Amino acid sequence: MSGERYSVFSLLRETLRGHSGWKPAWRKAVPQKTYDIVIVGGGGHGLATAYYLARRYGLTRIAVVEKGWIGGGNVGRNTTIVRSNYLLSGNIPFYEQSMKLWEGLEQDLNYNAMVSQRGVLNLLHNDAQRNAAIRRGNAMRLNGVDAELLDREAVRARLPFLDFGNARFPIQGGLLQRRGGTVRHDAVAWGYARAADRLGVDIIENCEVTGIRVHDGRVLGLETTRGFVGARKVGLACAGNSSRVAAMAGLRLPIESHVLQAFVSEGLKPFIDCVVTFGAGHFYVSQSDKGGLVFGGDIDGYNSYAQRGNLPVVEDVLESGIALMPRIGRVRLLRQWGGIMDMSMDGSPIIDRTSVAGLYLNAGWCYGGFKATPASGLCFAHLLARDEPHEVARAYRLDRFGMGAVIDEKGMGAQPNLH
Ligand SMILES: Cc1cc2nc3c(=O)[nH]c(=O)nc-3n(C[C@H](O)[C@H](O)[C@H](O)COP(=O)(O)OP(=O)(O)OC[C@H]3O[C@@H](n4cnc5c(N)ncnc54)[C@H](O)[C@@H]3O)c2cc1C
Repeated sequence: MSGERYSVFSLLRETLRGHSGWKPAWRKAVPQKTYDIVIVGGGGHGLATAYYLARRYGLTRIAVVEKGWIGGGNVGRNTTIVRSNYLLSGNIPFYEQSMKLWEGLEQDLNYNAMVSQRGVLNLLHNDAQRNAAIRRGNAMRLNGVDAELLDREAVRARLPFLDFGNARFPIQGGLLQRRGGTVRHDAVAWGYARAADRLGVDIIENCEVTGIRVHDGRVLGLETTRGFVGARKVGLACAGNSSRVAAMAGLRLPIESHVLQAFVSEGLKPFIDCVVTFGAGHFYVSQSDKGGLVFGGDIDGYNSYAQRGNLPVVEDVLESGIALMPRIGRVRLLRQWGGIMDMSMDGSPIIDRTSVAGLYLNAGWCYGGFKATPASGLCFAHLLARDEPHEVARAYRLDRFGMGAVIDEKGMGAQPNLH
């Protein structure tokens, strides 16, 4: 590894000299003629892939090409929630692997990603939801994942300000995963970028892929706004734009692009000590270290590549929030933004080879892909390095839709906007 190591000593040293000696966290790499592996997309998944390729698989001639800047995509736009409370056997081992990687990530990357295992509590409002939560909790525990069913009084003891007295859908309890929580999203992008750069990965920003050069069914490299970049293997990790980029190689993906919005309120004194999700509407909230409520709800519900959303969804999300916590009715909203989601046909991701030799796909993360970042990077790196799926990502095949082997966690069928 090259570059400085962050520590309490480097912090003290820089404090004493007015923070004048910090170096840029990663180099401004310029594209080389050719690489062993080029990853398209400098989001969390692309950067994590490059890092694990170098760190775990010992590969060095690797580049990440990003059309904008590191952290400008969904990795820097999400509501920062991480959890592994899944139901289906295709998903549980993968997301639990991710949770374990989050737990050691800061030491691994030598970067403070503000991993906060403050707990994720899914509220229940009727008997059917309680049955579903019991089933999910049992599936989690059978797979070694922590899960606790809380009754109404246990929820009230922890979150007394929720509407218990006069709610249209009274709270009956909740399913808690204590190891779930939040992670500072930009720090994840910066931490992986810095760690990958230290291992020799070229991170090339402001470099948009405009074409994929294929000859005789094999990938040769990428046409970019900074010239042609040759590659033995290309990995696509361009969440939200996967269909458009894959189409450059003649592929049509089982994915639609949709907008999801996020919101941050003004700073408030600490009062929510975990992540809470509302079961009677689609609303999830946590409180940032600065005191702002960070929350979101449903996707906008129509196909779009715009990184901004529309007012009817703002209204819907705020209604849900106030129904759950009437006391926030006078809180001011500070910021709101949108990101583009790769919504797959069954709500689960794809990490697989494609029909073009040397072209690999990491896509379909819907609006839960941030929590998957470490495992997605590790499994995609494994696939790229070894040409075989990682054991926890075997189910994420591209051909599963044709085979009827879908992983439909929500039981919604082939309707991407409902997953
Ligand atoms: C508002 C919102 C809230 C969310 N909340 C959560 C949450 O709480 N928990 C959770 O687990 N997930 C959440 N998600 C989902 C999560 O953020 C995404 O699934 C995940 O970040 C996608 O992977 P990524 O980080 O690699 O994507 P991105 O950061 O979007 O990376 C993809 C990159 O590809 C680049 N790219 C695209 N086309 C090209 C091209 N032609 N050439 C070069 N580069 C290209 C883009 O510029 C982008 O930087 C949320 C998403 C949004 C938008």
